Amino acid sequence: MEKQMFCFQCEQTMGGTGCTGRAGVCGKSAPAAKLQDELTGALIGLARTATANAPTSKTNRIILEGLFTTITNVNFDVATIQLMIDKVNAEKMLFLQIVPPTMMLNKFGTTMKTSVL
Ligand code: SF4
Repeated sequence: MEKQMFCFQCEQTMGGTGCTGRAGVCGKSAPAAKLQDELTGALIGLARTATANAPTSKTNRIILEGLFTTITNVNFDVATIQLMIDKVNAEKMLFLQIVPPTMMLNKFGTTMKTSVL
């Protein structure tokens, strides 16, 4: 059987090893699982970018909402998850426009190597 998803985020996971079919034991669809993985990656990118800048309360709120969206049984709606990904990426782009990656300075005031993209 071809694996359509892989998720082992909770104790309900199939056979104790991972849900891999069209949907997980909890009902999460393969497309929703894929988007949640993408959202997690986007959140990592935003966190790295925000750490190198000055995260606002809005940034913190977006990260909180994004993390909550990935929790089991909170939200399996693919359109909503995609909107959250777009929101996270838009926030990251705000930081990148304020401080271009090549201009980022570390705490010692010298240019730092970045790999946030
Ligand atoms: S969250 Fe759902 S899909 Fe993921 S391991 Fe748990 S039951 Fe399976």
